[in-house]
Amino acid sequence: MSIVTRFAPSPTGYVHIGSLRTVLYNYLYTKQKGGKFMLRIEDTDRARFVEGSVENLLNSLASVGLIPDEGPNNPGDSGPYYQSERLDIYKVYLEQLLERDKCYHCFCSSERLTELRTEQQELGLPTKYDKKCRFLTPEEKKERLDAGESYTIRLKVPENTEISFTDTIRWKITIPSKDVDDQVLIKADGFPTYHFAVVVDDHLMGITDIIRGDEWIPSTPKHVLLFEAFGWEIPRFSHVPPLIWMNKKKLSKRTGDVSVEAFLEKWYLPEALLNYISLLGWNPKTTQEILSLSELIEMFKLEDVHRAGAVFDIERLDWFNSQYIMSYETETLLNKIKTYLKRYDQEYLDKIQDFPEEFHYKILRELKTRLKKMADFKELTAYFYEDLAELDIELIVNKKMKIESLADVKDSLWFALKLLESDKLDTENQESIKELFLEEIKKADRKNGQVLWPLRVALSMQQFSPWALELIYVFGREKSIERVQKTLKQI
Ligand code: GLU
Repeated sequence: MSIVTRFAPSPTGYVHIGSLRTVLYNYLYTKQKGGKFMLRIEDTDRARFVEGSVENLLNSLASVGLIPDEGPNNPGDSGPYYQSERLDIYKVYLEQLLERDKCYHCFCSSERLTELRTEQQELGLPTKYDKKCRFLTPEEKKERLDAGESYTIRLKVPENTEISFTDTIRWKITIPSKDVDDQVLIKADGFPTYHFAVVVDDHLMGITDIIRGDEWIPSTPKHVLLFEAFGWEIPRFSHVPPLIWMNKKKLSKRTGDVSVEAFLEKWYLPEALLNYISLLGWNPKTTQEILSLSELIEMFKLEDVHRAGAVFDIERLDWFNSQYIMSYETETLLNKIKTYLKRYDQEYLDKIQDFPEEFHYKILRELKTRLKKMADFKELTAYFYEDLAELDIELIVNKKMKIESLADVKDSLWFALKLLESDKLDTENQESIKELFLEEIKKADRKNGQVLWPLRVALSMQQFSPWALELIYVFGREKSIERVQKTLKQI
């Protein structure tokens, strides 16, 4: 039988990076088996619905290139893909369940349920429905229905038994039925709860494998009971562990900015992001760490996903990102940067747009190894594109470099300026810049740092930047002279 998987998010906000890993595992597994990966929007809980979250979800998936084979944007035979558009379907299946006596009407008021819960909490007991309405006589039930009392429909969890299911990652899981609540399946407003809708839809959409977060393990017995109540085949379950921040807190919606969009906005490249998160909680059993999507598809094994939570380490992600950045040809990298800026920082794009391509290339060649993510790009490159900052005396006077005073700065910069103006200097040739400067410094019996430190600061006005001679190569003769002169003027 061919594999069918699904990602079934509730549209309650942005896409969490942990959810992206769940999508990725679904995707890798499905593509490897030549199956079909579906997207279904579980929006029956209207109170938690957040406007715009479906669009955000679709955009995030498209941005990282994990496109479902079927979903709201590319419907196939299994739609509709929004649960809110499937209400009539649920009605039909509810009737079946009632006929089979697998569920019952519950007339308990929300006040009574709250009271019950408080009581149980005070006694330190698990909070569960006490089954009061499960044993109403048919006459009592009819009477209350005729009186127009509001009701919910609850699952009749069998008593004194165990519910078991197998999980690819955790093997067999068994839960005593006394620990499973008589779950509400249909709410008082007639809407199905997640538990009911998920089972009906997973069956109707032909889902063979449910790969989802392990927070759904406690719900799974209810789903298993429902599949059994309908007489449907139970899909294979694989519950993946959560991601944990370095400080061991679960990667929850409240811990920092963990949305996929936030990572993309900081210019983590989709390929680096996917590569990194694929390895969180799964071991490909090779020392090769940089893996393309197609390599991942080939190698992925669901049964090798770990049970324990996986630690998300932003410094590791930075490392993956920088590996990808360094692997790109300068031209490709520049295009990626421009695409990024167009989406997230049009102002900076406008600023750099007028500079010649060759200038960008030179900058990128110098900075490629330091560029970890986009946020760094602007910070690392602003001084190339913007006017020179005001003279920072504390920075340029540097005792370690034997620059004791502004007079020393001036002396060194005049010396450097003469070299910059010299006919012997070829600013298009990095080697010759180096040769000329180092030779002349030696001849003049100066120390390298004595000249190159103030020169570097005069060109960049930065604490950290490439070496002075690399900056000359990037800026070219004219701009280098202009910057040195500007600094000299301020002394
Ligand atoms: N709608 C559930 C969620 O928001 C889906 C759980 C599942 O995959 O069954 O995560």
